[in-house]
Amino acid sequence: MELIFLGTGGAMPTKDRGLPSVVLRRGPELLMFDCGECSQRQMAAAKLGFNRRMRVFISHMHGDHVLGLPGLFQSMSFLGRERKLDVYGPEGIVEFIEAVNRTVPFKMRFPLWVHQVEAGIILKEKEYYIEAADLEHGTPCLGFAFVEKKKPGRFDPAKAGALKIPEGPLWKRLQLGETIAIGRSQVTPDQVLGPPRKGSKIAYITDTSPCKAAIELARNSTVLMYDCTFDSSKEEKARDYGHSTAKEAAIIAKKARAKSLVLLHISAVYEDAAPLLDEASRIFPNAVLASDMMRLPVNP
Ligand SMILES: [Zn+2]
Ligand SMILES: [Zn+2]
Repeated sequence: MELIFLGTGGAMPTKDRGLPSVVLRRGPELLMFDCGECSQRQMAAAKLGFNRRMRVFISHMHGDHVLGLPGLFQSMSFLGRERKLDVYGPEGIVEFIEAVNRTVPFKMRFPLWVHQVEAGIILKEKEYYIEAADLEHGTPCLGFAFVEKKKPGRFDPAKAGALKIPEGPLWKRLQLGETIAIGRSQVTPDQVLGPPRKGSKIAYITDTSPCKAAIELARNSTVLMYDCTFDSSKEEKARDYGHSTAKEAAIIAKKARAKSLVLLHISAVYEDAAPLLDEASRIFPNAVLASDMMRLPVNP
């Protein structure tokens, strides 16, 4: 898995930062969090492909997070997407997309499913689920966590050898959790697999004042992506607009016992955002400052 940061600015694009959009690539599948303007251009530059299994999660209906959707749909149609695309978002998402489809003439060439969601588990898959929580931004705003379920333990070839299981398809079946027969006896997966491995948790929390819900959603995350609109000297402004400072981002990461912190949604006032990283790192050392087109591998 890897995270690809398509846009890392906030409110307004600058020459260095586009508007919010992050893609979690999980094998062939793409999970996009927010879709700022021109996200499809960044997707093309990152060579992510437009006909993959993909889902988009929109945090809230502010323009910097949602206005990239119409362009993304058009580009996907022009490029011949056929697969269905699922979009999840808060109240207003269905109305917005309906209004665009009604007033902007173009032919949608793929099935689009739009889901209006509320806090809670919004999607369950075999290997992961997505949880949403209500943030504090003055308008309905959701934070998201991608939570991978426990994975089977590592296959131990020595143990398989000791049980005289020949290398090949039988190994594969055991790895997939099947019990197999060797002669007259049975071999169960736990005889050849190590202990179950913890999955990753990746939280995307932006456009919020620090709040309990953010800490809970970020709890024990492998990677926490968090609102870092301002530095501490602009704390009052952060409160007025429902955002967080670098210091507050670090405190949330620490309280939530996150493994790593990625600072994003950087205000256009910062031509050099290094001071934001300095501020956060003093409290939470394992922090990085997101930049457009940055790629970050995710290891549990
Ligand atoms: Zn924003
Ligand atoms: Zn906002």
